[in-house]
Amino acid sequence: WAKADGRGRWAVYDAERGARDNARAGLAAVLPAALERGEFTVDYQPIVALTDGSLRAVEALVRWRHPELGLLGPDQFIGLAEETGLIIRLGRWVLHQACAYGSRWRREFPDTRLVVSVNLAVRQANDPGVVDMVAEVLRDTGFPAELLQLEITESAVMATGGEPVRSLRRLAALGVRLAIDDFGTGYSNLAYLRRLPIHSLKLAAPFVEGIRSGDALALVDERIVDALVRLAHALGLSVTAEAVETARQADRLRALNCDTGQGLFYGAPVAAEGITARLRETAPGRAG
Ligand code: C2E
Ligand code: MG
Ligand code: MG
Ligand code: MG
Repeated sequence: WAKADGRGRWAVYDAERGARDNARAGLAAVLPAALERGEFTVDYQPIVALTDGSLRAVEALVRWRHPELGLLGPDQFIGLAEETGLIIRLGRWVLHQACAYGSRWRREFPDTRLVVSVNLAVRQANDPGVVDMVAEVLRDTGFPAELLQLEITESAVMATGGEPVRSLRRLAALGVRLAIDDFGTGYSNLAYLRRLPIHSLKLAAPFVEGIRSGDALALVDERIVDALVRLAHALGLSVTAEAVETARQADRLRALNCDTGQGLFYGAPVAAEGITARLRETAPGRAG
């Protein structure tokens, strides 16, 4: 009985896995054509100052409008794009879109020094052409390097032996800002991070989630965030809290001297026009 049952389960499991693998392979195969057909879009999520709620930056987040499957999030295809190498072209396209919009926002709202933040995949950070690619996009779009921030996950920085560090230095030399994304989820070796030319840390969702409830565990998370913010500030880094969803979290993070926040409480990722509308609302004293 047990054996038959076990084999039955295996058969089901295999079929499911087979279907999943096929779906993955299918998606991977059509990625290049999807890029050519313009099926990708970039949304932008507000990053605001915790002190006064003013818009400081936006993070570019890619989406795929799949003709049959509907809207797909990056978690469903960025891994595939990395595996197949398409991430090099897709990543360049996202950066170009984001910098082109950055330039438009700068022209229309010259007083807001809105930073545009773009995720850099491990494979991109390791690509020998990455520095030239970024420099070229900045040149093409006329977007100033100092208003561009590149986000690299902590695990990406730590996982690869030496090489990304070199490209990070060369990227920093271009004048772009560098942020460590999802900070606290990897093997944070601050002694190592300290030697990197980074400007800010993005505190990973779990710490921020922990602050929600106000129970004893939340207190522990608050102490961790408190320590991380102090440490970051001591190293001259600014801190952005990710996944801020409630007023209570925002209040606590402000009290802990966190600099900026991002999350549904401040606004979901929206199309570029949504950011334009928000800038228009808050632009100081513009007549007509
Ligand atoms: P990330 O860089 O950490 O981006 C933040 C993620 O948190 C986004 O997920 C965003 O939609 C989500 N988020 C926003 N507000 C909240 C909130 O209040 N609570 C919670 N729990 N989550 C919130 P998204 O858009 O699904 O992107 C997932 C990941 O995909 C990103 O994580 C980033 O690592 C990657 N990604 C997105 N766009 C790109 C890209 O153009 N290139 C590369 N290489 N990776 C990208
Ligand atoms: Mg990010
Ligand atoms: Mg993140
Ligand atoms: Mg992430």
